[in-house]
Amino acid sequence: MAFIEHALAIVGGGPAGLTAGIYAARDRLDAVLLEAKPLTGGQIILADIIENYPGFPEPLSGAELMERMRKQAERFGLHFATAEIKRVRPADDKYLLEGAEVEYLAKAVIVATGTESRKLGVPGEEELWGMGVTPCATCDGPLYRDKPVAVVGGGDSAVKEAVYLTKFASKVYLIHRRDKLRAEKIIQEQAFAQEKIEVVWETVVTEMLGDAEKGLTGVKLKNVASDEESVLTVDCVFLYVGVEPNTTFVKDLVELDERGLIITDDDMRTSAPGVFAAGDCRSKKLKQVATAVGEGAVAAFSAQEYVTGGPYGAGG
Ligand code: NAP
Repeated sequence: MAFIEHALAIVGGGPAGLTAGIYAARDRLDAVLLEAKPLTGGQIILADIIENYPGFPEPLSGAELMERMRKQAERFGLHFATAEIKRVRPADDKYLLEGAEVEYLAKAVIVATGTESRKLGVPGEEELWGMGVTPCATCDGPLYRDKPVAVVGGGDSAVKEAVYLTKFASKVYLIHRRDKLRAEKIIQEQAFAQEKIEVVWETVVTEMLGDAEKGLTGVKLKNVASDEESVLTVDCVFLYVGVEPNTTFVKDLVELDERGLIITDDDMRTSAPGVFAAGDCRSKKLKQVATAVGEGAVAAFSAQEYVTGGPYGAGG
C-alpha cells in the first residue's frame, strides 16, 4: 500500500485538531490533518449555539465557528486529507497510521479525535434510528415544528438542546434519570424559564415505539423511584446521554483511563514518545471548545519540539 509522509499527522478536525494544525502550519511544520469524513468540525458542529467561547459576544453556531477555524488553518497552508485511521503503530522512529486506502508515516502524531454520541441500547432504537431517533437537534429539530418531542439526558448538551428545540416543537419533554440536572446552572435557568419544557424526573426510556412506516410514535418510560411504567407520545426523541471517546484505534499504543480516554501530561504527551493528545478524547474534567483549543496549541508546541529536537519555533 502507498504511504504518504509528513513530519506531523493530526488525527481529527474538531477544535483541538484544527488549533494544533493552525499552530503547526504557522510554524512551518510539515503537518497534515486527517479526518474520517470530508466535513471537518467534529461533534461541536452539532451545537446550535455557542455562547461561552471568548471573543464572540454574540452567540454563533458550532458549524460557523469550525468553518472559521478551518479557513484560518487553510490560510497558513495546513494540509488536509480524508482518511479514517484504523490503527497507529510504531515504525522505526516514526509512526504508521493505517487508513483503508492510504497509509501515513509521521514522526509525531496528535490524536484529537474527540468523542461520539452514546446510544441508549433499548429495543427499537436501532430500527428507528434516523426515523425519529436522533443525536442532533440542530439537524433534525426544524423537522418537528409544532410537534411534541423528547430529549433524553440531564447534561449540558441535553438541556441546551431542549431549549433550542422550543423554537420548533409544541412541547419538549426532558427525560432525566435522576432528580437533579448535571448541566451548568445558567443552562438550567434557561430551560426552567421555558414554558414548553417539562422535565420528566427520575425516569428512563425503556423502549422506542413505532415502525418503519410511521417512524417513532412514542417512548416507553419507567420511573426509577416508583417502577411505574408509562407511554409518552412524541414524534422525535433526541438523545444526549453522553459520549464515547474515539480512541479504539490507539488503544494498543497509548495508555487510556478506565473510560477509554487518553492519559497525558500537562504538555499533552501520551505514554508513547512522539504521540500527543488534545481535546475531548483526553482524560480530563472540563470539555469545552475553550479547553480543546488550548490543548491543541500545547500539543502542537510539544510536537514541534519533538520533531525538531529543539525549542518551539526552531523550524521543522
Ligand atoms: P454528559 O455531561 O456526560 O451528560 C450525559 C447525561 O446523560 C447525564 O445527565 C447522564 O445522567 C445522562 N445519561 C447517561 N447515560 C444514560 C442512560 N443510559 N440513560 C439515561 N440517561 C443517561 O454529556 P454531554 O451533555 O453530552 O456533555 C459532554 C461534555 O461536553 C461535558 O463535559 C459537557 O460539560 C460538555 N458540554 C458543554 C457545553 C457548554 O455549553 N458548556 C455544551 C455541551 C457539552 P446523570 O446526570 O445521571 O449521570
